[in-house]
Amino acid sequence: MYAPIYLDYAATTPVDPRVAALLGRHLTLDGLFGNPSSTTHAFGRQAAQAVEIARNQVATLLNAAPREIIWTSGATEANNLALVGVMRAQARRGRHLLTSKTEHKAVLDVCRWLERNGCTVTYLDPDPDGQIPLERVAAALQPDTVLVSLMHVNNETGVIHDLAAIGALARERGILLHSDTAQSAGKLPIDLQTLPVDLLSISAHKLYGPKGIGALYVRQQPTRVRLEPLLYGGGQERGLRAGTLPTHQIVAMGEACRIAHDEMNVEQARIQRLRARLWQAFAGLGTVVLNGHSQQSIAGILNVSFTGIAAEALLAALSDIAVSTGSACTSANHEPSHVLRAMGVDAIQARAAVRFSLGRFTTAEDIDRVACAVTAAVNRLRELSPLWEDYQRGVKTEVDWGALP
Ligand SMILES: *Cc1c(COP(=O)(O)O)cnc(C)c1O
Repeated sequence: MYAPIYLDYAATTPVDPRVAALLGRHLTLDGLFGNPSSTTHAFGRQAAQAVEIARNQVATLLNAAPREIIWTSGATEANNLALVGVMRAQARRGRHLLTSKTEHKAVLDVCRWLERNGCTVTYLDPDPDGQIPLERVAAALQPDTVLVSLMHVNNETGVIHDLAAIGALARERGILLHSDTAQSAGKLPIDLQTLPVDLLSISAHKLYGPKGIGALYVRQQPTRVRLEPLLYGGGQERGLRAGTLPTHQIVAMGEACRIAHDEMNVEQARIQRLRARLWQAFAGLGTVVLNGHSQQSIAGILNVSFTGIAAEALLAALSDIAVSTGSACTSANHEPSHVLRAMGVDAIQARAAVRFSLGRFTTAEDIDRVACAVTAAVNRLRELSPLWEDYQRGVKTEVDWGALP
């Protein structure tokens, strides 16, 4: 029998063995287990040193200054700190925030909370290819807009947004730009010396580091972005994020960023070739629709709808292949993806969408096996599907998805 194949790298990545080795090292008496805030002894001071080396590694990946990096528990917390922190600290400047309908729930749910707490939020519609046109951003900016929040790469479709253009526009108007880069950090070059982004969220477990650690970049130059903390306590992270620093997690995230920085170009080129191989195999099935942008897209994500079948049925048929119908966070409920719906994808195509996400440990053999298994399953399910028959006869049907094979 074959081992199961993991093609859900956009949900989380396995920890790189080089990172895992470090992670274990700083837990026990013979490692750097000390509290980095304990500056009175060497245990604490050495841990603090290791934390600063890791901060440098994260900063290097983003071409930022180390003091612009604030440790958090992940991208969710970084998004919360950025949005709530800025809207609270800068309430006197205005109460309006601009974002898009295709953001991760870790931005959208924060926006809903802000709306219940005195802010107004505009949610922009994407184009059918998932991009947010610059003119639409320009038209939605208001005199009291304080912040724009736009993800770099969408976690469901892989679509890349033009942060440079949108950031330049925001800056012209004195408006801050925050970006959730959980899907792009370590995969696309990000140069904060030139990119006009003021706040940026990253997560270690999307770039082969451990879960439970991430960072928020907060721009310090030419001007310091003001924000209020969410947590109060020991004054760590310059008062912006209290709590004892998890040295082992931080050191691991630093190493994950170092590796990503060193290997990004070669790795992305390889993953791009694997995705093309998968897409070519699917093209043979006919009536397979790409959800997203054919050019402006990250290498590791391929979101496709297999017309005539329900994604859940396909996933059930692919028992030893891990893929997803959308983001991991929304697949528990059976709503069609909010991202695809915002792009104007109809309910039937949205329910037929499967996200394949590839990564560091994906091999060509994996791709060939998946292509083979998917082709067989799609052909079999289509034979059983009244929807596919209707589709071929050109009949538009109202579907009860629960009844499909
Ligand atoms: C995974 C992900 C998150 C959540 O990150 P955590 O570190 O798990 O909190 C947020 N945004 C995007 C785009 C993601 O892909």
